[in-house]
Amino acid sequence: MLSNTLSVIEVTIQSQLNSNVNITALVNFFKNYKVNMWIYPGVLKRKFSLSIPEIYAFLSALEEQGVLQSYYELYCSNCQKSMGTVQLFNELPETFECELCHGELPALENSFLIYKVIRDD
Ligand SMILES: [Zn+2]
Repeated sequence: MLSNTLSVIEVTIQSQLNSNVNITALVNFFKNYKVNMWIYPGVLKRKFSLSIPEIYAFLSALEEQGVLQSYYELYCSNCQKSMGTVQLFNELPETFECELCHGELPALENSFLIYKVIRDD
């Protein structure tokens, strides 16, 4: 990401996250992301020891700022494989089939929010 977007991220970190977070490390982490790349909340949790509610508050604030766009990823936890994404909650199917194990999975329990980078200037 480039400087304008990174400064939006830095301000959002200061307003959304607790003061123990390493702001420089977190901004550096975002430097590696470019438009159309996916950000997984679990990666932030592991790298920066943030809680899941904190991470979602932070990422949804970045979505409000036009930096990220949220998507629902359909995910088979048996195979640990993504079966695609939908952008809107009402686009979630009732169930979906895993292409690997052919299990029919309820979409609501087998999807989670991920974020795509949509701004980099
Ligand atoms: Zn599967």
